[in-house]
Amino acid sequence: ALGYHKVVKENRNLYNMVQDLKGNIRVYCRIRPIFNAEATTVVDLIGEAGSLVIVDPSKPQRDGRKMFQFNRVFGPLATQDDVYMDTQPLIRSVMDGYNVCIFAYGQTGSGKTHTMSGPSGELTKDMGINYLALNDLFELSNRRKDIINYEIHVQMVEIYNEQVRDLLAEDSASSRLEIRSCTSDGGLSLPDATMHSVQSTADVLNLMKLGDMNRVVSSTALNNRSSRSHSVLTVHVQGKDVSGSILRSCLHLVDLAGSERVDKSEVTGERLKEAQYINRSLSCLGDVITALAQKNSHIPYRNSKLTLLLQDSLGGHAKTLMLAHLNPEADSFGESMSTLKFAQRVSTVELGVARVNKETREVMQLKEQIESLKKALASKD
Ligand code: ADP
Ligand code: MG
Repeated sequence: ALGYHKVVKENRNLYNMVQDLKGNIRVYCRIRPIFNAEATTVVDLIGEAGSLVIVDPSKPQRDGRKMFQFNRVFGPLATQDDVYMDTQPLIRSVMDGYNVCIFAYGQTGSGKTHTMSGPSGELTKDMGINYLALNDLFELSNRRKDIINYEIHVQMVEIYNEQVRDLLAEDSASSRLEIRSCTSDGGLSLPDATMHSVQSTADVLNLMKLGDMNRVVSSTALNNRSSRSHSVLTVHVQGKDVSGSILRSCLHLVDLAGSERVDKSEVTGERLKEAQYINRSLSCLGDVITALAQKNSHIPYRNSKLTLLLQDSLGGHAKTLMLAHLNPEADSFGESMSTLKFAQRVSTVELGVARVNKETREVMQLKEQIESLKKALASKD
């Protein structure tokens, strides 16, 4: 039995290696649990890894069923660690000089903040990607300390109605940051945002608490701004090796504003303005990722603050992961469909014909490696 678990674990590592070989844009989908005992689910996991079926509650017969496929699908029982395990290789590549961008996308209440931050600012067993990522980076930095000297800094900002606010500044509430659009010279895209040096996960927890507090200050109970703004935690890594050469990279961890469409006939004023800003910036994000995947010569970064800010981590040699979140309740069917369509638009481009050969070869290599692992195990038993 032990041997079996080892094979499963090795398989997981191989799976991650294969993911690494694939294109630079990945899409994972996470389905949150249902909390309301009376609610029914419209999302089914099916045997095939990476696939799900969504059923239109108004026509549950055959034609109301639709299948979607992503690089990975996490069901309601998946733990924070399960999600992190498949995110880790991407995170770790930051230490090798790759820029990485991870987004949580989905309607309000679908679990974006749960995935990224975890249930609270405290240290719990359910810590999200933000904390686990930094923990991992510190560990790697420590493990490599004899060959590379790493420095890790973080910035944390919020984009609300196309204005960028520093969440770690003293005057956070009134801060208005400018984005520098040309970062190809290695400059920072947010030169004026407070930059904190972090040495341990304790430092990180304190900063996250500060950032969350500053986010809450400007919202009221009625106006829960956090679901209508994008929050961006940026981790800057600088590594200096023994020869003196320097490697610089950054990791953007983004908790996006809720993707739900608002009924234009029902909202007015501030709420309508917010909704329009959100719709526009999320569709800009989709446009940019699609343009990158299609290798277009023009990438429309300038169309929103969000894409402008993330420019250095989208495209080029950067790696992008979109985590699409679903609330599987029947009431959310419409929003879930729209999330799935957005996620598919971002991911299918990558599965074009040109990639098939490469993938087939990768799968063959994977199978060969599994076989050799099995043999190695058998000879040990
Ligand atoms: P969002 O940020 O998308 O608006 P939240 O992350 O705040 O959504 O999630 C809404 C509620 O559901 C929260 O109470 C959160 O703790 C809970 N939740 C979301 N996803 C999960 C999950 N995978 N497991 C357990 N609880 C979850
Ligand atoms: Mg949230």
